[in-house]
Amino acid sequence: MDRAHFPTLAPTAREQAFNALRGVVGKEHVWTDDDALRPYRQLMIAATEADHHALGAVAPADVEQLRQVLAVANRFRLPMWPVSTGRNLGYGCALPATPGQVVLDLRRMNRILDVDPVLGTALVEPGVTYHDLQTFLKQHQIPLWLDFPGPGPIVSPLGNSLERGSGVSPYGDHFGHSCGMEVMLADGSLVRTGMGGVAGSKSWQAYRYGFGPMVDGLFSQSNFGVVTKLGLWLMPEPKAHRSFAAVWPEEADLARAVDALRELRLEEVIRSPGVFVNPTLALVGRTTQHTLHPQGGCVPPEVLARAIKQHGIAAWTYLYTLYGRPEQVALDTDIVRRAIEASGGQVVPDIVDPAQVNELSLACFELLNWTGGGGLSWFSPVCPGIGSEAVKQYRLAQQIIGDHGLDFMMGAALYGRYNLNVMPMVWDRQNEDSNRRARACYGTLVRRFGEQGYGVYRTSIAFMDAAAQQYGASTAALNKRLKRALDPNGILAPGKSGIHP
Ligand code: ADP
Repeated sequence: MDRAHFPTLAPTAREQAFNALRGVVGKEHVWTDDDALRPYRQLMIAATEADHHALGAVAPADVEQLRQVLAVANRFRLPMWPVSTGRNLGYGCALPATPGQVVLDLRRMNRILDVDPVLGTALVEPGVTYHDLQTFLKQHQIPLWLDFPGPGPIVSPLGNSLERGSGVSPYGDHFGHSCGMEVMLADGSLVRTGMGGVAGSKSWQAYRYGFGPMVDGLFSQSNFGVVTKLGLWLMPEPKAHRSFAAVWPEEADLARAVDALRELRLEEVIRSPGVFVNPTLALVGRTTQHTLHPQGGCVPPEVLARAIKQHGIAAWTYLYTLYGRPEQVALDTDIVRRAIEASGGQVVPDIVDPAQVNELSLACFELLNWTGGGGLSWFSPVCPGIGSEAVKQYRLAQQIIGDHGLDFMMGAALYGRYNLNVMPMVWDRQNEDSNRRARACYGTLVRRFGEQGYGVYRTSIAFMDAAAQQYGASTAALNKRLKRALDPNGILAPGKSGIHP
């Protein structure tokens, strides 16, 4: 453990700081004892709680209380780790990147401030969940669809968009479909981005760029401010849609499949990333590691092959949905089928991934049942949308993950020019040896992928420095200058994305 990160506040100053926070938000919204902090200290990744120790948690009710909380943080040099719903599963949940921070829980700020059914936009606060927003839309019979990340119902559009999370429908790029923010900077000043600066703005949620430098990106995956409102673009309910599974029989079909799908994505015949999975990931929810291999540990290849055959799972499966006008969907159905068949695949109609058709589900939690041991981490490299590159990443990850005694799973989101190769690693967190292997595995993946010119699109709190390192010294230096200018006392989320005060 790196002791240098440990809280430098003397116990008396710490108590004074917490008392000051109680004065701002009320004592029922400040937590410092272990029992009360348990929900914030949940850890699924291969890391120790001490390296990400949350000193306490505080939950302001509104922007004014938030301003006063940050004033206390500045006065006492007390670092604050903002979370919206704090359920960043498999990436660190609510815990901070470095120990000794107070979780700044924004769940109480949970108003849906605006929904424009005509323009298809919304404005939400951090604590609004996808479930809340969907319930609102249904109650008001507003025909707009949402795009969800895996743990959809319980997480926030604001938190997930800031993390640049990904979904499966045409609006799968969550940050790319956000429009306009309100951000509180470390000194308590409030900024509205894009058109939000115009007094009485009529198009804050409609036009992203505003005038002059576009700064929204500075507040995503960063520690330069606390985002208090976010605008969202929502997809008009399609007039028609139809879902399919495309399957390829051989492992060696990967390159052909990715090349064929890139063309369909770039031409926007398929308008959504969908989900492209390897057979082990397709087995999740149908069986478990223990059922297949009661002796424990990862499933031997021959056992896996038998299970895959028994469950009738293909080497590669792509779940996709076509959206549009009825005639367009009918036409695209044939165009896509022909292209997939030409690449050696087959199409099975009417296989539906609920998330692609606006249905919230908690199916992604089935991953945790695979080992039942509670360990979950995602390795998520960006891959150019080229078949041979997909094969390189697949082979490299398969080898590294296998060498560390973990089952290899891959579920890619296909964006055409690039794919997000999201590889869940699951293991038994109660077992020290598997924890050690999972941690070593993740570090090796980041390093070896970096050596091949591949960076991750997002990472867990335990590997933020390692991931940032792959992006080079000049980016790190620029981030440091921005951090110094915007947060001179270093009170906001030290260590987030490898940016330290
Ligand atoms: P989820 O929606 O999955 O519950 P979180 O609330 O856990 O997402 O947020 C994920 C990460 O995004 C946090 O760890 C934090 O680094 C960042 N984040 C979340 N909300 C904010 C915010 N309002 N302002 C700044 N950063 C935020």
